[in-house]
Amino acid sequence: MRVGILGLQGGIYEHLYHLKKSFTELGIEGEIKVVTDKGDLNDIDGIIIPGGESTTIGRLMNRLGLTEPLRRFITDGNTTLGICAGAILLAKEAVDAKVGSVQQPLLNVMNIRAIRNYFGRQKNSFETLLEIKGLEGGPYKAIFIRAPVFQPISNKVEELAKLDGKLVMAREENILVTSFHPELTRDNRIHKMFINMHINEK
Ligand code: GLN
Repeated sequence: MRVGILGLQGGIYEHLYHLKKSFTELGIEGEIKVVTDKGDLNDIDGIIIPGGESTTIGRLMNRLGLTEPLRRFITDGNTTLGICAGAILLAKEAVDAKVGSVQQPLLNVMNIRAIRNYFGRQKNSFETLLEIKGLEGGPYKAIFIRAPVFQPISNKVEELAKLDGKLVMAREENILVTSFHPELTRDNRIHKMFINMHINEK
């Protein structure tokens, strides 16, 4: 598998580390490329969109002419993992928990509404154990940083994990999203899940 990591903002090298480790443990051949240009999309068959600030990443994508090519890459069926701000960018709708509707560029490919900054001030960042559907090996320690929650807007969206009754991990076909940061833990089960999605789709 050849995986791209969108390299505009956020935890790029942490993902690189987890991907390398996962390829080794799964015994499959993997290549990793940091994506900053639409031409980079020709060399990969899966992508990770890291966290950061979704408005900033969206504007940078527009400026670099990456939005349309990336949208096509994803709707063509290539395996995609969106983390926090990356998940917001994949959504068809995004609102801010406090200020409501916001003007921001979105990739518009997943049937979810992202509620940005859902956990508010006193819970800006926290860790908690989650039960994740389909993830073997017990509960998963998830790290949330100014995280969103998701609302499905179609029954094609599979709900994988909830926190306080709110959706924080979901899948729709080739797209996997988490509102927490799997690259910041030692646990690489979510990167393996992403790689296995690609393997099982072939
Ligand atoms: N709060 C950020 C946003 O709305 C997301 C934070 C993150 O990616 N950790 O875009």
